[in-house]
Amino acid sequence: MFPRQLKLDVPCSCGYNLRGICVTGVCPECAKPIIDTINSLPLPLLHPKREQIQNECRLLYAPVAKGLGCPIDALFFLVDALSFTRGMIRSRQHVTSVELCFGLREYALVLFDEDADEARAALKDWNIRSSEDVGKIIFAMIKSGFILPSEGGNLKDFDSIFSLDTLFTSDNCT
Ligand SMILES: [Zn+2]
Repeated sequence: MFPRQLKLDVPCSCGYNLRGICVTGVCPECAKPIIDTINSLPLPLLHPKREQIQNECRLLYAPVAKGLGCPIDALFFLVDALSFTRGMIRSRQHVTSVELCFGLREYALVLFDEDADEARAALKDWNIRSSEDVGKIIFAMIKSGFILPSEGGNLKDFDSIFSLDTLFTSDNCT
């Protein structure tokens, strides 16, 4: 398991806010392992109509991906990461740039079984090398109408949140 602090307001099933707690630990209130809370979140990958939706989206996303110079999978990943992040923070409707960046880290680690090296390599393959790249993709998708304009705030809000060098190392805990 990649040891890091949760950098989002993630409510435990008991209601306690797990923000700042190491994922290798347990909830201070009810002793539920933090990783169990993360792994029990709904996974976009398991959506029953996922394949159908992706096939329909592929044609629509293609010109956007081409314009950005990134693979379509990068767009699919960010849309999934956005929905995963919304599931993590639960109550709030819109996701901020910082929430999305740390939510996508959690989602990447779920996808790659807590292997930070694999997660980093995949993000690199998708041309997602920094928070600025996330902002560029999100805003291109907003412009094309695939994501609501209120998600992520402003493009500038994505400045200097992470680079691939720091995303999986900046807040390690043991
Ligand atoms: Zn709890």
